[in-house]
Amino acid sequence: TIPFVAIIGRPNVGKSTLFNRLVGKKLAITDSIPGSTRDIVEQEIFLGDRAILLADTGGRRERTDSHLETLAIERSYSIDQKADLLLFVVEAMELLAEDEQLIDYLRRYQDKVILIVNKCDSHERDFIANNYYQYGFKELIMISAEHGRNIDLLREALYQHL
Ligand code: GDP
Ligand code: MG
Repeated sequence: TIPFVAIIGRPNVGKSTLFNRLVGKKLAITDSIPGSTRDIVEQEIFLGDRAILLADTGGRRERTDSHLETLAIERSYSIDQKADLLLFVVEAMELLAEDEQLIDYLRRYQDKVILIVNKCDSHERDFIANNYYQYGFKELIMISAEHGRNIDLLREALYQHL
């Protein structure tokens, strides 16, 4: 079986934008309204000569009134176990309580988590994103999914982990 890589994180950090960027097609719905990805979207992609199965997941939050969203959240937790690698996405300018809860929860998966700081649209934002080093994930990559910044770097890092 091919390696399974899941993109996870709270709503609105840019998971679906990153998924589409890596896939090279707009398969996942992106939206400025949080909670727009309720289903898991999977696509096989190639990194050089190697294939991986990439999954976009619904945004996590502890509480929601939406039954559909509750189902999506439960499914995404089971994906964490299954995945060979987790791309945990946060955003440069905004660290919310929901992110901190995920940071704590993900310690159990430390060995397979890459922290992706998205919305690093400029070097100024990289500077702010440096704050995320304190959480001690073994790897941190600053990207802009929307503008394609450092996506090559991320692809290389992914390849190294296969
Ligand atoms: P998801 O809920 O985590 O899947 O987030 P989406 O991919 O739907 O994106 C949420 C919002 O963030 C959308 O309005 C995107 O256009 C925006 N966004 C995604 N990536 C970037 C980025 O690299 N820079 C900036 N400035 N905005 C982004
Ligand atoms: Mg999404």
